[in-house]
Amino acid sequence: MAAPDSPPNLQAAFDKASAMLRRLAHVAHVAPPGLAVRPKTQRVGAVELRKDGPWVVLHSAALTAPEPALQALLAHEMAHIARGHPALRRRLRIASVAAIWLVAFSFIAFASVQVAIGNPWQWWVWLATATIWLAAMLAPRAAQLAIYRRQEYEADRITVEWLGSSGPMIALFDWLSTNAQPLSRRLPARLWLARQPSTAARRQALARLGTSEGHSSSGR
Ligand SMILES: [Zn+2]
Repeated sequence: MAAPDSPPNLQAAFDKASAMLRRLAHVAHVAPPGLAVRPKTQRVGAVELRKDGPWVVLHSAALTAPEPALQALLAHEMAHIARGHPALRRRLRIASVAAIWLVAFSFIAFASVQVAIGNPWQWWVWLATATIWLAAMLAPRAAQLAIYRRQEYEADRITVEWLGSSGPMIALFDWLSTNAQPLSRRLPARLWLARQPSTAARRQALARLGTSEGHSSSGR
C-alpha cells in the first residue's frame, strides 16, 4: 500500500486510515484491500477493481475528516467489497451498454426498412417511434442506477452493524454536507450519473433503521 502523491503531512493520516482499513477487513472476513489517495477525484470514496484485487480510493480531503467520519467512509467502502458490489457493477455496466446498442441497432434497422419500402410516414409516427426508442435507451440505465442506489443503502446498513452504532455514519454525513461540493452538473447529466442517493436520503434511511431497531428491541 502506498500513497505516492501525498505530501508528508498527509502520510500520518494515510497510515492511520490504512490501519483502520485492515481492522475493518478483519471484521468483514475479507483480505485487506489496497488503499490509494488522489488529490483530484470525483468521489470522496470509491472501490476500484484492479488486477491484484479491490482498492479503496479516497479523495485526499477525506484524510482530514474527523476519525469517526473517516471510519464510516472506509467501512462503507469495505461493505461494498464484502458484498461483491464492484464485480456486480462491472457486469451491470457491460449488460447496460449491450442493451443500449441492441436498442439502437434495432431502431436503425427498423427505420431503414421503413425508408426502403417507402412507407409514407407521418411526422407524428416518427415522433412516437423516437420517443419509444429514447425510453428504451434510458431503461437499462435507470435499472442500473436503481441497483446502485440500493447497494449504497445496503453498505450504509452494514457500516452501522459493523461499527455498532449510527454515530460514525452521521458524523460522515455531517462532514460530507459541509466539505463535499454537491455535483454541479446540469439536470440531465445529474440524472444520468445519479449513482448515489443524496446525503439527505441516506440520512433518512439511517433514521428509519434506528426506529425499526428501537421497535424490535422494545418488543422483547
Ligand atoms: Zn457507496
